[in-house]
Amino acid sequence: MFIGIDDTDSRERYCTTYIATLLMEELSNYKLDDPRLIRFNPMVKYKTRGNGGVAIRILDKVDERDKEEIKDITLKIIEKYSDMDNDNTNPGVVFLDEENYRNNINLLRDYYKKTLFDILDINFAEDILKKINADYYKFKLGRGIIGALGAIAFFGDYTYELIAYRKKENWGKKRRIDKESVIIMDKETFPYTYDNYDYENDKILIAPNTPCPVLFGIRGIDKDILIKAMEMIKGEEPERFMIFKTNHGTDAHLRRMKIKDIYPNTGVIVYGKVVNNPKDIEGGHVIFKISDGTGEISCAAYEPTKGFREIIRKLIVGDYVAVYGTVREEPLTINLEKIKILRLEKKYILDKRCPFCGGTLKAKGKKVGFKCRKCKKVIKYDKIKKIEVERDLKIGFYEVPGSARRHLSKPIQLIDLVEK
Ligand code: ATP
Repeated sequence: MFIGIDDTDSRERYCTTYIATLLMEELSNYKLDDPRLIRFNPMVKYKTRGNGGVAIRILDKVDERDKEEIKDITLKIIEKYSDMDNDNTNPGVVFLDEENYRNNINLLRDYYKKTLFDILDINFAEDILKKINADYYKFKLGRGIIGALGAIAFFGDYTYELIAYRKKENWGKKRRIDKESVIIMDKETFPYTYDNYDYENDKILIAPNTPCPVLFGIRGIDKDILIKAMEMIKGEEPERFMIFKTNHGTDAHLRRMKIKDIYPNTGVIVYGKVVNNPKDIEGGHVIFKISDGTGEISCAAYEPTKGFREIIRKLIVGDYVAVYGTVREEPLTINLEKIKILRLEKKYILDKRCPFCGGTLKAKGKKVGFKCRKCKKVIKYDKIKKIEVERDLKIGFYEVPGSARRHLSKPIQLIDLVEK
């Protein structure tokens, strides 16, 4: 039996993962699968933080009486730990039997893909819930049923996140996490954990900024290493912790697309040639354009991506790249999460020495060409010798810093560890 839950928290209070943790404890007399923390389309505007839902799977066979008891426990915890007073909090809960899950696996997989790539309507989710005979509960608008079912429907690549929670008396107070211990943990557990510390911006990444019950979350690919990592963190004592199976760091929200097929608010990987040199625009953002033969699209490295913009600024027309990111609507632009530089165009500078006397050439406009300051000879623009210069850029993958990374984005360090 599956239990899916979403949209219980607000920026001011609680966390859906905390509900899942309490529920895992309450249901510990059953055999339980790893709880799931699943992220959906990061372009959804209702999201509180990272657009995530949770799901729990009870592996034991359950009879009708058990089911009633499980539902009762679940709904009570949700009612107690949801921020019902917040307008933007609209909890949804889904209960699905194993049999109904198995009988509808293809439908569920299609649905999961849609939660990643599209913006769904609550009625769409409700129709599917009816079709698969799920039992579901909507609180207020009940928008959470979209993510609650998505977390149940999840399949594919995964990583883990260990979430440690604070004692209740500390909720809302400043978190005490020793920075040095985070750095040591990061270095000792590399490459099996990631996004613990942003060295470029000198920032701890494991702790949230909201007054929620979470003390810290450590992301990685090995459960034992995550427990060791948690034990290395000094500062406030956690009250409890839970390891979630998650689609974090898998690029599940991205898919290969041709430019002509791209639509707003979805995630894409596009191969193409740079057709406009990058330029800086107001706000510190860097924009360039690529073409793949089916169309052209702008790509942006926004200001919070910091040093990543330095790489982007070095691209020139003709470079061949693969861009990874989500598509913003107005103006239609790919918000870059990563870039793979596949081929570098040769870069030339004009040889400004006179081919007759070795004097210095002076530009006289495209029509005239260049004139030698010494011998006064005029050389046509296209007759000027070009000198190839070395590119200050290497072929390979480049990514935004951890502090600008989306939960779903796969960091480069994981590319060979968790193969897609
Ligand atoms: P947190 O990270 O604290 O769990 P959140 O960022 O996940 O919060 P929610 O409060 O869960 O934000 O709000 C997101 C809402 O969007 C939920 O109601 C969820 O059901 C819904 N949702 C998720 N995926 C989609 C989608 N693809 N289309 C439309 N709505 C979606």
